[in-house]
Amino acid sequence: MIKMMIAFFKDFFKYRKAIKKQDKWITKFAEKKGYDINPNKMINTNLKIWLSEMEGIYSKRMCPCFDPSGDAELDKKMICPCQFIDEEIEEYGTCHCALFGKKDLPAEQWKASGKRLMAEYRVPLNIKGNILDTRGMPMDKRRNLPIPDASHQLKNGLLELKGNELTMIVATEQESINLEKIAKFKGFVYQSSKKENVYYIDLKVK
Ligand code: SF4
Repeated sequence: MIKMMIAFFKDFFKYRKAIKKQDKWITKFAEKKGYDINPNKMINTNLKIWLSEMEGIYSKRMCPCFDPSGDAELDKKMICPCQFIDEEIEEYGTCHCALFGKKDLPAEQWKASGKRLMAEYRVPLNIKGNILDTRGMPMDKRRNLPIPDASHQLKNGLLELKGNELTMIVATEQESINLEKIAKFKGFVYQSSKKENVYYIDLKVK
């Protein structure tokens, strides 16, 4: 928890200008659509930090909850605000990431959506020593992408890591491509190899 808070405040400081930029379009969009924005400051600030990171890594404001799929059509749909927002708000009261929600959504429903997210993303990692196997996570029914994706597992894995070297096992070439972009953006050393249709990503955190 302490490590998580330190990481949050570091990112908050680093992205403070970008957060303001995200805030502008988010407020405008919510007004136009008649939606509300998550009233939980910690969650909505984290989402703005992640949106800013996604923009930095992929040059597009990709959904902060899913790594790009490599399918151009699906990835276009996942630019925030994504094309799943209306049906997800209809289903959960909020969009998948719980950034936007129904107008006047009761506080307990915002909380329930936050809990749903935590249950999806704060899962026990398959990590042994410094090897993190990201495969086998449940798939999101609309995007057919894993939850948590490799980048969220990396974030959580780094909080548990002893030392500065991590090997990630990923199932698809796209995940290894995404991790290469993330490594470049964050200044990690990246090396990948493929054995029997499995991708091994060696990261050295600087
Ligand atoms: S689920 Fe919410 S935060 Fe994620 S892309 Fe869609 S609108 Fe944006």
